[in-house]
Amino acid sequence: MKKIVLKPGREKSARNRHPWVFSGAIARAEGEPVAGDDVRVVGHGGELLGIGHYYSGTIAVRLYSFTEVTPSLDFWREKFQEAFGVRKVLGLVDAPETTAYRLIHAEGDGFPGLVVDVYGSTCVMQFHTAGMLRIKDILVEALRSVLPRCEAVFARVECADSGSGYMHGKSAGEVLIRENGAEFGVDCEEGQKTGFFLDQRDNRALLARYSSGRRVLNAFSYTGGFSVYALRGGATRCVSVDSSKKAIELCNRNVVRNGLEAHHEGVVADCMDYLKHFPEEFDLVVLDPPAFAKHVRNVTDAAKAYQRINTNAFRQIARNGVLFTFSCSQVVERDLFRKIVFSAAADAGRSVRILHQLTQPADHPISIYHPEGEYLKGLVLSVV
Ligand code: SAH
Repeated sequence: MKKIVLKPGREKSARNRHPWVFSGAIARAEGEPVAGDDVRVVGHGGELLGIGHYYSGTIAVRLYSFTEVTPSLDFWREKFQEAFGVRKVLGLVDAPETTAYRLIHAEGDGFPGLVVDVYGSTCVMQFHTAGMLRIKDILVEALRSVLPRCEAVFARVECADSGSGYMHGKSAGEVLIRENGAEFGVDCEEGQKTGFFLDQRDNRALLARYSSGRRVLNAFSYTGGFSVYALRGGATRCVSVDSSKKAIELCNRNVVRNGLEAHHEGVVADCMDYLKHFPEEFDLVVLDPPAFAKHVRNVTDAAKAYQRINTNAFRQIARNGVLFTFSCSQVVERDLFRKIVFSAAADAGRSVRILHQLTQPADHPISIYHPEGEYLKGLVLSVV
């Protein structure tokens, strides 16, 4: 295996099991590694620190092991089994009311560069690195050994221009799932991310508790996750707004699928505009925008965008309203997000109380050694 030797004094991070080796920490590479190669990372004295996938970027190595291992089928199968065991502990395996969950959450499960979501008998694997992509056949075999009843595996390749497609079986169009008893159609082939935002499952359940008798605006609704829960929770009206026509079409179908269409309207619009002037009164507003910042250099612009939509919501939400506001930008940290929401509240001059502080669910775990894995932040606010 090719070798990466770190500069003296730069071993601490890998010793603390942090999975990223930055290019600035590297003294030299032996064997001319290229993107996707397995490499051994050693300290200046030659001691092994970890084994991972090489990439010629700022994050030069993503470590998937901190001990001497051979990255064989058995090795990956054992890692899949470990992650599956955790989902069993969470009660997500073979649960009749919730048939979709995240099996592999990248670094959070010791698989930097790989995400695997389970949608009933269909799995979607998302490849973010050349290293994971190169061993895709081994990963599919390992996955199928822990989920023997898996009928289809769809690969979504994010790190190259081509390669997406079925790697095992095929599912017929929209895949049907249940989440806390609600039914949703998921477009695994062309939907956003892996097809459905499983990370909002617990937060949607909380929203249902606040929905009775309320008029709900679900901004950035995608396929209507929050909308279905709001209507099941007794909302008297729910408007779902998203700029994607396809998302709103699937959202409407999801609402119908649950028999809830009487009080729902799906609107295709740019939320940045829609939120400037609410066309009607809303008592419960959900703001779940896409990651406005994907990189630290965009944090300032992202902060402005978050502030704008939150100020608009604070200004117009009805008296005794409730606002569910989220950020899924990993680079906008929890404290910063709270400060942004604070300034938005101050701009609007409303009386605002924090009722809940939300995060990602347990099937999107954060490795204790990799705090960067915490990405979803949410606040539930009472707006008097
Ligand atoms: N809350 C959703 C997930 C939202 S993902 C759920 O629970 O499933 C973010 C959504 O914002 C995507 O569907 C994307 O199409 C939409 N979007 C991005 N920019 C937008 C804009 N300017 N106006 C409206 N929708 C937008």
